[in-house]
Amino acid sequence: MEDVVIIGGGAAGLACGIEAGKRGRHCLILEQKEKIGKKLYATGNGKCNFANRAMELTGYHCVAKKNETQISQVMMQKSCLSTEQFMLEAGIPSIERQGYVYPRSEQAAALVHALEAAYLQTGGAIKCGTCVRRVAQDRTGKFFCVETDEQTYQSRRVVLATGGTAASKFGSDGSGYAFAKMMDHTTTPCLPALCGLKCKENGWNRLQGVRAKGTVTLLQDGKYIAEDYGEIQFTRYGVSGIVIFNLSRYAAIGLHNHHTVILSLDLLTEYSARQAAALFRKLRTTCAARPFLDVLSGFLPEPLARYCLLAAGLTDTAVCRELTDRQLEKVAVQCKSQQIEILGTNSFEEAQVTAGGVPLHEINLATMESKKTAGCYLVGELLDVDGICGGYNLMWAWETGRRAGRSL
Ligand SMILES: Cc1cc2nc3c(=O)[nH]c(=O)nc-3n(C[C@H](O)[C@H](O)[C@H](O)COP(=O)(O)OP(=O)(O)OC[C@H]3O[C@@H](n4cnc5c(N)ncnc54)[C@H](O)[C@@H]3O)c2cc1C
Repeated sequence: MEDVVIIGGGAAGLACGIEAGKRGRHCLILEQKEKIGKKLYATGNGKCNFANRAMELTGYHCVAKKNETQISQVMMQKSCLSTEQFMLEAGIPSIERQGYVYPRSEQAAALVHALEAAYLQTGGAIKCGTCVRRVAQDRTGKFFCVETDEQTYQSRRVVLATGGTAASKFGSDGSGYAFAKMMDHTTTPCLPALCGLKCKENGWNRLQGVRAKGTVTLLQDGKYIAEDYGEIQFTRYGVSGIVIFNLSRYAAIGLHNHHTVILSLDLLTEYSARQAAALFRKLRTTCAARPFLDVLSGFLPEPLARYCLLAAGLTDTAVCRELTDRQLEKVAVQCKSQQIEILGTNSFEEAQVTAGGVPLHEINLATMESKKTAGCYLVGELLDVDGICGGYNLMWAWETGRRAGRSL
């Protein structure tokens, strides 16, 4: 009989095992991949952005929106400091860039090795290449049976740390939702998040490879839902980049609920439409003999400037002195409100996280123990919480994993 079986050797499972091990619990991590922490190696482009010093609660969301206020019971201002301290104790000092926190070595591999060593040092065991198929409580309710292809493990406590369903090549294949259901839990709809968005073709594919800074507003049936500022990347299929990743959860939810989803791009954020038009009028005089495309290319990458000119009903050869005030106003409006209809998100395989999962109201957030099945703990991305880019999702995984580990 094991003290604790942890299903999943990812961020949350490892954090849980270390804290439980430090308190004298003997844990067994069952991991279906050939090594633990496979996803961690890929995080932060191999550098692992594991926390965020500027973390704000507004960066976290639930698909079951009413539960969002509960996130503050877990994530607090001190969470980043506490995560960094936890990493330091495992031998991973950190560096910070604009709030984003990385291992000092900027090597995700170093972080995985350090966490594995810290866990093994507590006396914990790991079995890789071991896929859990089923979890059940014995009839007396005193222990759990965790079934794998090779054998059935019995344990007093079980931790579901299987992750969500994003990027299944790293192991999180969604099987945790079935285990949660076996423990009497429900799940919200699960949708890809932190991913690129597919656009209705409207000449956007000619912009493939272009990058531009701007404010992106997501509208659902014409209503404002969210906005973010940053670099927009135009791709073969639509749009990508951190700003798009951060909005993708809203697009996924909107499309799931059969709404029309539009992104409105303001490519001249620092000017109002009126200020931009006034500036264009000035430049019409000073650059009178030049094509207006030249002038607009001083504001935007040339292919995007051309796109906005054409969208305003002008040709890309139009010369400055030929343009009327009205035409310049139209260009300003086009640059400030390019509308892109979103048809879909990229697949789960290309998404970084899952929006949705086991709703927070089914969990005791002080301990991460299930309110449905005593002795069962749920942590990490399996739960219905998703964060924006910048270390938020790993912080959620560490924090919930450690919480469970401390209370096991
Ligand atoms: C490419 C990429 C880059 C990312 N970069 C960042 C970043 O820089 N910063 C950030 O904060 N977040 C980042 N994320 C998100 C972050 O990695 C995840 O939110 C986080 O790893 C979730 O932790 P977890 O422990 O809940 O799940 P996971 O890390 O997914 O771990 C779950 C583990 O459970 C195992 N498992 C699942 N089912 C079974 C089963 N049936 N039997 C046995 N084992 C099982 C899996 O193999 C896996 O190892 C990134 C994600 C991706 C895909």
